[in-house]
Amino acid sequence: MKKIFAGNFTQQDPIPEAGIAAALEVMRSGRLHRYNTGPGEMGETALLEEEFAAYIGAPYALALASGGYAIGCALRALGVAPGDPVLTNGFTLAPVPGAIASVGGLPIFVEVTEQLVIDLEDLADKITTSGAKVLLLSHMRGHICDMDQLMAMCDAADVAVVEDCAHTMGGAWNGVASGQHGRAACYSTQTYKHMNSGEGGFLTTKDPDLMARAVILSGSYMLYERHSAAPPTEAFEAVKYVTPNVSGRMDNLRAAILRPQLADLPRQIDRWNALYRVAEDGLQTANSVQIIPRPKAESIVGSSIQFLLPDFDVAQIHKLLAACAARGVELKWFGGAEPVAFTSRYDSWRYAPAQSLPRTDKILAGLMDMRLPLTFSTEDVRLIVEIISDEVAEILKVA
Ligand SMILES: *Cc1c(COP(=O)(O)O)cnc(C)c1O
Repeated sequence: MKKIFAGNFTQQDPIPEAGIAAALEVMRSGRLHRYNTGPGEMGETALLEEEFAAYIGAPYALALASGGYAIGCALRALGVAPGDPVLTNGFTLAPVPGAIASVGGLPIFVEVTEQLVIDLEDLADKITTSGAKVLLLSHMRGHICDMDQLMAMCDAADVAVVEDCAHTMGGAWNGVASGQHGRAACYSTQTYKHMNSGEGGFLTTKDPDLMARAVILSGSYMLYERHSAAPPTEAFEAVKYVTPNVSGRMDNLRAAILRPQLADLPRQIDRWNALYRVAEDGLQTANSVQIIPRPKAESIVGSSIQFLLPDFDVAQIHKLLAACAARGVELKWFGGAEPVAFTSRYDSWRYAPAQSLPRTDKILAGLMDMRLPLTFSTEDVRLIVEIISDEVAEILKVA
């Protein structure tokens, strides 16, 4: 009798009771809009921004309606204009090229390495050939490239780096928080990320001009002085008449839900990493499964795990997906020709100029992906890994 896993790969933890209580209070007050505050009163959203800035170590933070909005806002605040090329990873997800397209930019995709990070050699080539002045660096599935080398390269070429930290909130490179290397960083609090408000996001930066523009872009009207994790009033004077309002604010209800989650994030990261290490250890021993090595400089948040099946052909991958699904194990595959649910490929987005990334194609063809929600126990992960290993072995036996 084959063992079956009965857990749910899309079931997140409940909202902490403190968050539920705070949300009820906001609802009872009726003051859900972030600027609906009394004189001198700090709303939940402004408090959350202060706390998030302190957590990341950035002087400025802005809470927004989504991670994708935060990216578009950062690009627009940097001055990306219609027709401008914007470099980004070939291995990413739909909101990333989507944010580039939202400001009229042209996504220029850069190859990915077997470590699932941006290929610095290809980046150097494409900085030259594209003439792009902005790199939207996606730390896809939490894999962080050599940030020291990347920043040296981009600084030398005068390329501004916007970090997409949707999967690295709480991660770090060489002890520096993910998001603190580039000009700006964007985070998501969509349900499947590291904090859950249904939808939501953050933008952080050290650049007062960029933050002043972002605050006004987000829809602050002339109420920007109510932001405390923001630059002084002078920074706004220079930009307030020329920056359009493209509303994408966070509201106090979501902020109330997020504040206790932020306080709890370090503990959650430890829980994720415990699950990740069990999955990694288990998959390490499976024949034909190639684990992604994690560099020492990288502090990870193991909310998902990826592995490569370089010897598998398309038919074998389909067989594995079906066999695992039949036993309750939900694997995702980044090599599929058609985008499925949340999973897509750089060539799925036909609004971007057609591009060829042969090295990325080869890696994505064997790239498997699995969520590790915190509702799983380490025992659950052991069983999941046993099922994957069994089914991989089964397919190899037939071949
Ligand atoms: C989730 C995600 C985002 C932002 O998504 P929103 O749903 O807009 O919050 C950006 N980049 C990546 C890689 C993501 O997975």
